[in-house]
Amino acid sequence: MRKNMIAGNWKMNTTLSEGLALAKGLNEALKGKTLQCEVVIGTPFIHLASIAAAIDTDKIGVAAQNCADKEKGAYTGEVSAAMIASTGAKYVILGHSERRQYYHETAGTLKTKVNLALAKGLTPIFCIGEVLEEREEGRHFEVVDEQIKASLFDLSADDFSQVVIAYEPVWAIGTGKTATADQAQEIHAHIRQTLAARYGAAIAGDTTILYGGSMNAENAKDLVAKADVDGGLIGGASLSVEKFLPIIEAF
Ligand code: PEP
Repeated sequence: MRKNMIAGNWKMNTTLSEGLALAKGLNEALKGKTLQCEVVIGTPFIHLASIAAAIDTDKIGVAAQNCADKEKGAYTGEVSAAMIASTGAKYVILGHSERRQYYHETAGTLKTKVNLALAKGLTPIFCIGEVLEEREEGRHFEVVDEQIKASLFDLSADDFSQVVIAYEPVWAIGTGKTATADQAQEIHAHIRQTLAARYGAAIAGDTTILYGGSMNAENAKDLVAKADVDGGLIGGASLSVEKFLPIIEAF
């Protein structure tokens, strides 16, 4: 089912004690509040189990920021989808532009990761988005279509229904430059059409599509007011309760 969602991506920030304090602070701030959206925090791997045990996971879902493209075995340093699920985390962010850019994750690798995550019952938050040059050349629609088709379109309709999409224009991530609400709506509507062509209008209509890229307390309301923007994936502003809370309350 399509749902509103605000998901934080902490990236490689916070020691375990800092992360625990941040998660507990958010948990405290949300106590007693009736929320109009699901709230998720994407923490470093080593925080997952401690944070999942310390907060109300019915109210705040816990996400990993990546998972291995192998099921198990001799892959030193890797963390599998099964390991993530065993911590109490329910989500995994996959295909973030920083992983595509700095760790050379390809559409094929991401397809494998999505399959492994789904097989272990995790909800993938699958990131797509164009770089500035592609937007300036007017190729952003084609770029996101290709990213979606290459990594997701072999999924069955049932499996695809578990996936959350996060549209994150790379030029807006961590730059302070946000896509306007109209720009976000235009491409979210396009993404939904692309999904409808493959999975039908009902499944496309039920898909949660988040916007990500310098979303903050000031711009969140305008963005989530758009018909096809179902929430946000938030980097910098998810690292403090004071900045994250107003975004959650934008719905
Ligand atoms: C992100 O990393 O997914 C992101 C959207 O970052 P920021 O909010 O800092 O632009």
